[in-house]
Amino acid sequence: MIRPEDILVRSPSGVCCKLGGFHIDPTRPVERAVITHAHSDHARAGHGAVLATQETLDLMRLRYGEAFAGSTQAMAYGESISLAGAKITLHPAGHILGSAQVAVEVDGLRVVASGDYKNAADPTCAPFELVRCDLFITEATFALPVFRHGDAHAEIEKLLHSLALFPERAHLVGAYSLGKAQRVIALLRQAGYDAPIYLHGAMEKITDYYISRGIALGELRLARGATKANLAGTITLCPPAALTDLWTRRFPDPVAAFASGWMRVRARARQQGVALPLVISDHADWDGLTATVGATGAGEIWVTHGQEDALVHWCATRGLKARPLDIVGYGDEEEIGDTEVNQSEDGAAPSRADTHDQDGNGS
Ligand SMILES: [Zn+2]
Ligand SMILES: [Zn+2]
Repeated sequence: MIRPEDILVRSPSGVCCKLGGFHIDPTRPVERAVITHAHSDHARAGHGAVLATQETLDLMRLRYGEAFAGSTQAMAYGESISLAGAKITLHPAGHILGSAQVAVEVDGLRVVASGDYKNAADPTCAPFELVRCDLFITEATFALPVFRHGDAHAEIEKLLHSLALFPERAHLVGAYSLGKAQRVIALLRQAGYDAPIYLHGAMEKITDYYISRGIALGELRLARGATKANLAGTITLCPPAALTDLWTRRFPDPVAAFASGWMRVRARARQQGVALPLVISDHADWDGLTATVGATGAGEIWVTHGQEDALVHWCATRGLKARPLDIVGYGDEEEIGDTEVNQSEDGAAPSRADTHDQDGNGS
């Protein structure tokens, strides 16, 4: 009888399906890669053939340029292809636009690699789909009982309340450039906020791509085109690192907000000089992770990048076979100080204006 480890094995470059001849989210260049989503630690340039959703391929192209892979193949959610007897199907992961879980089936045994995921509502991407399986590979970014993200809409109300309290000040919201920024904008629109929202230049291309895929974000403007007086009483989205940059000087008496699951830890917000912490995460919280792991029906769980130990322990108490994967190279895009991720977030070929914004020299 076939076992899960006959389908997928851990390798130094990430999880590998030997039978199908492919890696999932490899951290080093490989011949054939299936990519769960476009965040730079999961989606790297330089692979031979890349299989992913159209959105993930487009976002990789935006970041790395046309030659990011030898060849590409787009797959829609629910569509399947077979590679040497391994059937691959992509299912929505609810993490960012285009994010997918990868299901691999051989002889009736199903393994699901979730990539990053969340089971909370997000107006900018397809909702997480639960896939029953025998082995589930889960992320563990917020896998501690202290992490309960709560309702993102309530966090947006906090931002709008602060805006009403301080109409002369600018509100700067640090948010990861791919996914989080667009979600915060969409949540603001859902809350009825219809004034123009300003953007840091590093977010322009990705945000334009979201709009091109039919995500309604209302009127957006670049902060670099605005005067200081224009920016009073407005909201600007920027990469987290920009919050502590000279770039903030163009804003009148800015209030620093940061949208991240880590903002549940108040000491962390204080330490990072964030006056207005917004607990908004694109990852499942403790309840989301444990509920999902349980609902997949999987008897075996592999845990990757984050707080592996707590989740492995939780699985053991439920009689599930579980182990940490210990793959080096995945980051955490909800960190304010993750410079490696922030730098690559600007893309391999940033426009001149974006470079200036990053240096704090923009107009
Ligand atoms: Zn991610
Ligand atoms: Zn990740």
